[in-house]
Amino acid sequence: MSRVLVVEDEAHLAEGLRFNLEAEGHTVEVAGDGERAISRLLGSGVKFDAVVLDVMLPGMDGFAVAAALRKAKNYVPVLMLTARGRPEDVLAGFAAGTDDYLPKPFELPIFLARLQGLLRRSAWLAGADRAAGGTAASTTKGSAGRASDEEVFSFDGKTIDFGNLELRTKESTIQLTLMEAKLLRHLIRSKGRTVSRKSILEDVWGLREDTDTRAIDNFIVRLRRYIEEDPAEPQHLLTVRGIGYRFVA
Ligand code: CA
Repeated sequence: MSRVLVVEDEAHLAEGLRFNLEAEGHTVEVAGDGERAISRLLGSGVKFDAVVLDVMLPGMDGFAVAAALRKAKNYVPVLMLTARGRPEDVLAGFAAGTDDYLPKPFELPIFLARLQGLLRRSAWLAGADRAAGGTAASTTKGSAGRASDEEVFSFDGKTIDFGNLELRTKESTIQLTLMEAKLLRHLIRSKGRTVSRKSILEDVWGLREDTDTRAIDNFIVRLRRYIEEDPAEPQHLLTVRGIGYRFVA
């Protein structure tokens, strides 16, 4: 049972989502605008397991809400509802720290499946993987023996824990958004080989449209800040001019 905040100003849509999420056994709250969403998420003391966030809201829009949450170091999983045919919304959403997106209008089963994916992540973060049905191999610190290479990858004194979306270095632990983790995993799986921007858009973001690939470059800038000693002289996340990127351990 999870607590979900639905941020949507169109009342019939919000109530439809509430009805279906409650039918799945979740506890649901609805916020009709971004300001109310922020005060519930940051000011109420109530812990939500996931947020369904519409982009188009009166006043503060969905991007601003996501950005404000991440700025306040709140990493609640966010599923953003975007307008179909607007890849720039998707990219702006990820830049603001969204974890996943769904273009409107959507099929209900797809919505529920996407949300379930985010809630699974939430369960991992809470260390409740076994309680939630044991879908994930244990990635508890110190028991790396059980975790597959899929879930934990170490290089150059850093460990990326994909199950917990953490990047651990000697000095600190950085919380990754789902998309940062997905992009890193994509590059690491192809390590030593060049990955084109087009394949990143298709395989990581699920976008087929021709779109501005600079959003990927912004993600790379952020990832370099996390993993490079000197982000201006990257040793791991290399730019392949005119094509894309290459990861070297
Ligand atoms: Ca709306």
